[in-house]
Order: sequence, then structure tokens, then C-alpha cells
Amino acid sequence: MPQECPLSFTTDVYALQEQQKLEESSSKWVCQFCGKAFYEEHFLDMHFENRHADYIRKGSNVVCLADFCHIFRCDVVSGRSVPEYWDRALCHDKMLKKYRAECVAMMQKCTPKLADSSRQKEISAALNHLVCDFLTCDKYWERKESEMGPIHTMIYIFAVFILVFALMVYYTVAYSHFYTDDSLLILMGYEKARPKVLLPPKHQQLRYRPTVR
Ligand SMILES: [Zn+2]
Repeated sequence: MPQECPLSFTTDVYALQEQQKLEESSSKWVCQFCGKAFYEEHFLDMHFENRHADYIRKGSNVVCLADFCHIFRCDVVSGRSVPEYWDRALCHDKMLKKYRAECVAMMQKCTPKLADSSRQKEISAALNHLVCDFLTCDKYWERKESEMGPIHTMIYIFAVFILVFALMVYYTVAYSHFYTDDSLLILMGYEKARPKVLLPPKHQQLRYRPTVR
């Protein structure tokens, strides 16, 4: 994700703590700093705040993702806010227009910089479609088919950016493979073993492979 993207991991106020969350099951959340386990994520969050506050980022460039909820429609997507007649009737078209412009500018900053500018535009357009296009009075209250809880809202936001990152890796490898002499696949050692198949980096392949004895 580009450095200037406000959703970047490097500036996220809680990123270091979030990294140390381990969901062993739906009712067991483990703090990987000290090994304590909790029934709910909420209690783990409180524990982080009380015991590991030194892992909360500080500084003028630090951002809290919740500050972008007006763009990501957190309340609507999570189902916390269900529109009533007057919500729709009194929708602020001008305000949403402003949010939409803010959203488009942010998506542009967050789109990975690719050598192939048409691909870059495609990704930027896809992000606008996924996030910014809902910032109109007609679409503001629309939700996906599947109901999403509050936790899933943030997962949804992250999933969008992981998708972009995956596309960026894919196109970089594909571009180097088909259009340059120095294919990344050869450099990574995949070309000889499995020609013309695009593989993830080696460490990811091995990660969940069961041991065969
Ligand atoms: Zn702990």
C-alpha cells in the first residue's frame, strides 16, 4: 500500500496491537504479548489499552481508521444503523458529495502505483465502485446481501485493500514474466520447477502444508 495512503499499516494507531491478536476460536482471543486469553475481542481490546498501551502509535501522522467511518459507512455496513423514513427524506446530498470527493481522493492515494497505467486506473475505478459509489442519497443505505457485524466491517475494509495488494503483486509478477527478460519467476526459482504457473512466494506455500512422515 502506498506510503501516502492514510490507511497504510505504518500509520495506523492500533496496527501493532492488532497484529498481536490471535483468534483461536470464536470465544478465545489471545494476547500474543503476554499470552492471556479472553472470551471476547472487546475484553482483549481493553487489556491492550490497560497493559500494552506502549504499543499504541503516537505522532502527528498517526491515523485512527474509525475517523474514516463517514466514508466507509461503518454504521450502515455493520447493521448498527437502520434507516428510518426521515433518514432518507432528510439525506444531505451536498454533504455526501463532499464525502464522495474525499473518498475518491483517498482511493487515488491508496491505489498501488503500477507500471501499467491502465491497470492502475482499473484498480482505482474498482475501489471507487466498492466504496465511494455508495456515497449518494440513493445508495447510502444499501448493504451487501450478507449481514455484516461490526467486526466484519473492518475485515471488509481490510479485504478491499488486501485484494488491491494481491492484484498489484500478480500484475508485477505477470508483467515481468511476459514482457521482460528478467522474469521474477526465474529470480524466485519457480520458472524451472513449474513453468508458466504464477505462484505465491515460497514461504506462503509452505506455511500450512502438513508434515508427511
Ligand atoms: Zn497481554
